[in-house]
Amino acid sequence: MAQGLDDSIIELHKRAMEVENEKAEAKIQNTSRDSSGSWTDKVVSAVRISDLALEFGVSECPECTKKGRSYDVYFDDTNGFFGCVKRKYGGDCDFSGNIVEFMKRCGS
Ligand SMILES: [Zn+2]
Repeated sequence: MAQGLDDSIIELHKRAMEVENEKAEAKIQNTSRDSSGSWTDKVVSAVRISDLALEFGVSECPECTKKGRSYDVYFDDTNGFFGCVKRKYGGDCDFSGNIVEFMKRCGS
């Protein structure tokens, strides 16, 4: 009878291990999906948008400058976003987007 109890404990352990393995596999699949994310995600994690801005010499919004106004541009290094501060105050300026958009607009 003791033998039977041991067997069922072993069986339970095996099952628990299987569940853990399944969880671990699911985790690995999720991680690999994340790391093979979009090209933009890779650029965002590799490049600071504020460093790019320095390189491109962008500190004021070029769209507003064209209209004779002077507005700064804000940079969000964590998410790779940029935008004209005029937008923050509810102004209409379409100078904003992600790091790829920034390269398109300001890169040479
Ligand atoms: Zn602007």
